Amino acid sequence: MSDDLTFTVQRPPAYGELTDLLPGLFWVRLPMPTVPNHVNCWLLDNGTGWTQVDCGFNTDDTFEMWDKLWRGLLRSRPLQNLTLTHAHLDHAGLAAFFVKEAKCTVRMPLAEWLSAWKLWHEREEAPDEHFAAFMKRNGASADEAAQVIAAQRKPTYLGLRPPREFTRIRDGDTIAMGKRDWRVITAGGHSAEHALFFCESDRILIAGDQVLSHMTPSVIAPSAQPEANPMQDYLESLTRLEALPADTLVLPSHGLPFRGLHVRLAQLREHHLARLDDVASAITGKVSAFALAQEVFPRVLYANPRQAFGESLAHLNMLASQGRLTRDVDADGAISFAPV
Ligand SMILES: [Zn+2]
Ligand SMILES: [Zn+2]
Repeated sequence: MSDDLTFTVQRPPAYGELTDLLPGLFWVRLPMPTVPNHVNCWLLDNGTGWTQVDCGFNTDDTFEMWDKLWRGLLRSRPLQNLTLTHAHLDHAGLAAFFVKEAKCTVRMPLAEWLSAWKLWHEREEAPDEHFAAFMKRNGASADEAAQVIAAQRKPTYLGLRPPREFTRIRDGDTIAMGKRDWRVITAGGHSAEHALFFCESDRILIAGDQVLSHMTPSVIAPSAQPEANPMQDYLESLTRLEALPADTLVLPSHGLPFRGLHVRLAQLREHHLARLDDVASAITGKVSAFALAQEVFPRVLYANPRQAFGESLAHLNMLASQGRLTRDVDADGAISFAPV
């Protein structure tokens, strides 16, 4: 899939190593206990201190690697700011540690800060009841919903409490990180208001999870917004990113830095369009999101039902918005889709 991309390095650096990528811009790759097995964070040299983009999972490994770096190579100057691309725990899970230790400021989009707090509250108050009702409205029997709830993987790696204070960044803002100016681009589809950062003068894009080198970012309709159309948001973001220069160096959160942005955007678009066609052709009669998830994600449905369900619904809602499926809600609130 990545044949037409040019990678700046063929092999990733060791976990926890400070890798000099560009003048004033360093790469730290951290291990993750999940798939994908790593996340990339970036350090930018402000002169008087550092800006760090993303911070990784709240695990002992990640904590120890940052602790070693900040007590070692980075110790002479302070961490001034932590800038977060989005609220997912592999990017923001350890944020509170840096705020406490370094007294740094935090920058992120508003919807991502709110999402981080939602995740935090949901660990106190398990949202299973709502999720079971959501599954039942989307075609699961009471038994099936109960089975999925009972089988789902309990979250093992929880984030720390999100930062209580932050500076909001918005689409179109220009922010300084290191010695460069970066334009904030926010995008939906993968998360509510994911931030990417583009440096016009050096043509560098810190892409977060929106554009990955080797994987397709997940696009999920969350149970909190069952009528959302995140696939449309995601595809629209690819169109907007096509306006960036073709030779932009892309720094993704998972995978390797690469050139070939337009090629990668086209690949991601093709992947989703092909998948939408696959789903559309698999639907020959009335179908629910649960039935589709059972067919398309049989294994994931029980291990990670929110992903399986959310991806099914993302495809169904997109096909309905394109007029390729009808979406019906019956008198009991049950939702189904059917070919036009
Ligand atoms: Zn993510
Ligand atoms: Zn990620």
